[in-house]
Amino acid sequence: MQNPLIAKTIFSEIRKLKQEKDAVILAHYYMPPELQILAKDGGVVDFTGDSLGLSIEAAKTGAKIIVFCGVTFMAETARILNPGKEVFIPDREAGCSLASSITAKDVKALRAKYPSIPVIAYINTYAETKAECDICCTSRNALQIARSFDSDTLIFLPDVYMGRNLQKNIEKETGKKLILWHGKCEVHEQFTSASMVGMKLMYPDAEMLLHWEVPEETVDVSFNNRAGILGSTSDILRYVGESKSREFILASECDLGASLKGMYPDKEFITPCIKCPYMKKITLQNTLATLEAIGAEQENKYKICLSEDIMNRAYLPVKRMIDFT
Ligand code: SF4
Repeated sequence: MQNPLIAKTIFSEIRKLKQEKDAVILAHYYMPPELQILAKDGGVVDFTGDSLGLSIEAAKTGAKIIVFCGVTFMAETARILNPGKEVFIPDREAGCSLASSITAKDVKALRAKYPSIPVIAYINTYAETKAECDICCTSRNALQIARSFDSDTLIFLPDVYMGRNLQKNIEKETGKKLILWHGKCEVHEQFTSASMVGMKLMYPDAEMLLHWEVPEETVDVSFNNRAGILGSTSDILRYVGESKSREFILASECDLGASLKGMYPDKEFITPCIKCPYMKKITLQNTLATLEAIGAEQENKYKICLSEDIMNRAYLPVKRMIDFT
């Protein structure tokens, strides 16, 4: 957002339309900063959160309409949890390299190859894929959910890096083995071990903040003689709040750095600033355009449409995940 005056006008237009159309706006922590400011603080967003927090909030809201400032698989999850509500996204092309790495057909083939092995789907999957799985998880509850199964082998999809990081933890604790898919987050895979070694040399006192989705060799070099956390977005936010350290190296999406700085202004966050191109498709301008279109002919451009069959079948794995929290 270049011009603060234009931003102010858009903010007030969005707030007016939200009220008129009985809509809530949910935004992910990876949204640009102007789309993370809560309405009560002068912005437009009703809730900012990670995937799990947003799913829970979507299920709770009393509003008739949800405008989802995030990527499409997240808006689909909101729709699955809210069959009686309409869900809109400001750009339906806001994809995800993990979600597009696997299809429902791929899951059916995995099930045929490994019959009776439970399938855990990371939330970063499309509704059709979720519909073929036993339970969903987010990075916040993946370990907890994997531990809960009696089976000594589990299928975890689609993130291979997160799967390998989970495997190390779960195998040590329980001896369970994970069968993995080959999906990768195109943002988190860029946090290489070389970049982490370089940053550690440049910032010898900084603690490490790593998302589960970074490659396992990056994790190995990062925690060698250095404090920090490997976890979900919420784990990272909580860790910083509890840590006495003032300086952190962040290996996650760039705008999480802005969220962290907003929450902890006296702390410093060092990051190569890698932005998710899909999350950045959502802007204040197309959020306003979405609200303007609701109820008009153009609303289908922004509407999340899923068949009843997919909605019903995807509901169970998503609900099982929500019940876990
Ligand atoms: S940051 Fe990675 S996992 Fe998240 S939406 Fe972007 S590509 Fe997908």
